Amino acid sequence: MKAITLLGSTGSIGTQTLDIVAQYPDRFRIVGLTAGRNVTLLAQQIRQFRPEIVAICDEDKLQELQEAIADIDPQPILLAGESGVVEVAKYGDAQAVVTGIVGCAGLLPTIAAIEAGKDIALANKETLIAGGPVVNPLIEKYGVKILPADSEHSAIFQCLQGLPEGGLRRIILTASGGSFRDLPIDKLAEVTVADALKHPNWSMGQKITIDSATLMNKGLEVIEAHYLFGMDYDDIDIVIHPQSIIHSLIELQDTSVLAQLGWPDMRLPLLYALSWPERIQTDWPRLDLVKSGDLTFREPDHEKYPCMQLAYAAGRAGGSMPAVLNAANEQAVALFLAEKIQFLDIPKLIEKVCDKHQIDNCKSPALDDILAADRWARQEVLTKSMELGDRILSVR
Ligand code: NAD
Ligand code: MG
Repeated sequence: MKAITLLGSTGSIGTQTLDIVAQYPDRFRIVGLTAGRNVTLLAQQIRQFRPEIVAICDEDKLQELQEAIADIDPQPILLAGESGVVEVAKYGDAQAVVTGIVGCAGLLPTIAAIEAGKDIALANKETLIAGGPVVNPLIEKYGVKILPADSEHSAIFQCLQGLPEGGLRRIILTASGGSFRDLPIDKLAEVTVADALKHPNWSMGQKITIDSATLMNKGLEVIEAHYLFGMDYDDIDIVIHPQSIIHSLIELQDTSVLAQLGWPDMRLPLLYALSWPERIQTDWPRLDLVKSGDLTFREPDHEKYPCMQLAYAAGRAGGSMPAVLNAANEQAVALFLAEKIQFLDIPKLIEKVCDKHQIDNCKSPALDDILAADRWARQEVLTKSMELGDRILSVR
């Protein structure tokens, strides 16, 4: 029986993780849950999974949560705020912490979990992208495992099992192409938030769905792959694969290529992150290559999607630059979701902010440097987006 704590339990990753726990009650047990502000769903989850400890990030919702679970016996420890989430992350006998929080908000809880000796089932890629220079040494120091739950990185991790040291030559990340993969470049200026949220293959949270539409998600995954597998950026490639059946590939020194395949269903990489190194038999639909049909591939279009190259550049610059790229992206996506900026403003804002950070890039950042870079980049996007607003108003 594996004891698990789940951060971000009410989101897309969170609810799918709980589906797995519900399906395998003999194998997995929930120790702690955290959520942002969805009291109704969190209360249902507490009722069903009976965690020992729970945190709700929005402190204003604590009382409502207390009332919603008042009849439950025994009561879990109830906490609130960012510090509450950190307490849950490091609490008790959980062996693994699933990080389903969205954004750099996952950084401090993830670090707390590592310092408490817990393995990390990593969905929250932003944490590693921003915090790689701090998180990786901690993983080493505390001897914990980081088990990738992002589908591409899970695919690579699966292909790497049993590969001798030095055998890996190149990583090939597949990308679905996002919501606008078939839209001509000159139409991108007009797309709406609702258009961008229609992902062709995956049902996910809003932020990552926008990241998929800009292809920043793939750029972020390049940096994620660098920190997870120690590959140079020159040896991490992207290929567009619209069917999302091949979840990624590795090329070996002798030119042999290994791939991992499956239906696009996040439960599969999540289950492997929880069960590794074991393989659990499931009753999920089995891959049928005839039904899945043609598998096609094409080059990524960097003119249409500048975010990938922004991410490569930030990754190569290293230091605090990936934290700046990530924070600028989070802020720009939030502004786009709030309909304050246009779709094409997202890469423009990120580029401006990363350019400005070049002279200040901290090569070996400590945690405080990363948090400061994150705060600075968000503020910088807000300031620059207002200039953009003035420009738009003056043109109109
Ligand atoms: P989501 O928006 O559906 O869920 C996010 C969860 O985090 C919710 O429970 C929310 O309440 C909580 N949360 C939000 N802000 C918070 C904060 N500031 N502090 C504490 N909790 C907060 O997002 P998601 O799609 O489940 O994605 C979660 C993470 O997993 C992201 O980093 C994403 O990139 C990654 N990921 C998701 C998928 C997917 O299929 N959804 C696939 C690969 C990777
Ligand atoms: Mg992915």
